Amino acid sequence: MSLLEIALHKSFVCAGMLLTMACSLSSSVMAQSGHVNPWEKKDIGKLPPIASLTEGMWLKGDLHLHSRHSTESSNNPISKIVAFSKSVGMDYIGITDHDNHVNGDVAHHTWVDPEFKTDSLLLLYGAEWTTTRGHGNTFSAKPYDHQQLYDVRDQRDVITAGVKKKLGIHLSANHPSGKDHFGYSYDMIESIEVWNSAIWPKNANAIMIWDDMLSSGRKLTGRGGSDAHHGVPDSPEKATKNSVQATANYVGTPTTWVFAKTRTLQGVIDALTNGRVSVSANPYAPRVEFYADLNEDGKMDMMMGDNAKSTGKVVRFQVQLSGNTLPDATYTVNVVKNGGSFATFQATGKLPVVEFTDTPVTGKRSYYRVTIEGPQTAYPQVPGSMALSENMVALSNPICFNFDPNF
Ligand SMILES: [Zn+2]
Ligand SMILES: [Zn+2]
Repeated sequence: MSLLEIALHKSFVCAGMLLTMACSLSSSVMAQSGHVNPWEKKDIGKLPPIASLTEGMWLKGDLHLHSRHSTESSNNPISKIVAFSKSVGMDYIGITDHDNHVNGDVAHHTWVDPEFKTDSLLLLYGAEWTTTRGHGNTFSAKPYDHQQLYDVRDQRDVITAGVKKKLGIHLSANHPSGKDHFGYSYDMIESIEVWNSAIWPKNANAIMIWDDMLSSGRKLTGRGGSDAHHGVPDSPEKATKNSVQATANYVGTPTTWVFAKTRTLQGVIDALTNGRVSVSANPYAPRVEFYADLNEDGKMDMMMGDNAKSTGKVVRFQVQLSGNTLPDATYTVNVVKNGGSFATFQATGKLPVVEFTDTPVTGKRSYYRVTIEGPQTAYPQVPGSMALSENMVALSNPICFNFDPNF
């Protein structure tokens, strides 16, 4: 081979190499253009039909209470909690004693206490799961093996979530922005404590977390819980330094309303899981109900907690206050859409009603929820609670559009 031939051959090889490189480059570009992102949003398909808006009943209760089986409590046997709850018209309560005080064995402490029995007052089976990663409340219609959940408290979320699922219980994040906040995955829970105790202002960050969870597609129910630990002492000498709390934060501060199909433990839990729930400052404060008319026929088609597909049509929303509204009071109705402020209205009268319209976008998630501010209805049995709740009277759960039930 001559020098020229060698040079030509080399350049040919080079050209060939370049060609090959160019070919492989263009084939990889081609492969990339054919790439399909498996996480691309798909149509969520048909959603389950919305349950009846009339077949059911409003039940009120408190979902976070500590009895004498929590060692941090004082003057608060179950009998006292039950008697008080009945006296203020509660339909259900969740006594959620700290499981770490009994090494996870709530079944042989709180639940077998002779004072723990469901009659006219429904008593949920539950506990406050008290772990180094924070607190969560459990709720169940029947006794379950809570020890198993206690045993996996330090395991990885995937294991803990599996045990929780197997037990078939409702798990709820407690005081999410407070001390001992829920430090596990929010994918393993059904609800979140957005209103903990009578002290309203400390819940602002909990509401923000709730909005973030809703915005990311987690349809979590917002609920309340007084987290009351202390009862009124039976005699002055039984008073502790915490006894003063009983007059400011006790059963019903706040009160969680659920629209249950049946007056049963399972009825309460199902409503709680589905989000047909609102929270009021106390058992005598007005209850907020939130509905939507999807086809402008004047008939409401869904309520808070419900999820429908948006059709591109105008939706008429209705907010109403029921129960003990103060006849001369003006209530402020704040509408939150997708975590941001949407509108504000003033409402007065015996049964104040506010209506507004909007067109939820098609093919994307959106949600609407309301808060009610105004003067507090008196709660003479827990007089100190009124000032602590400031202007917050009630809040609703969201009405949802295009939420994926298989999130
Ligand atoms: Zn706690
Ligand atoms: Zn607690």
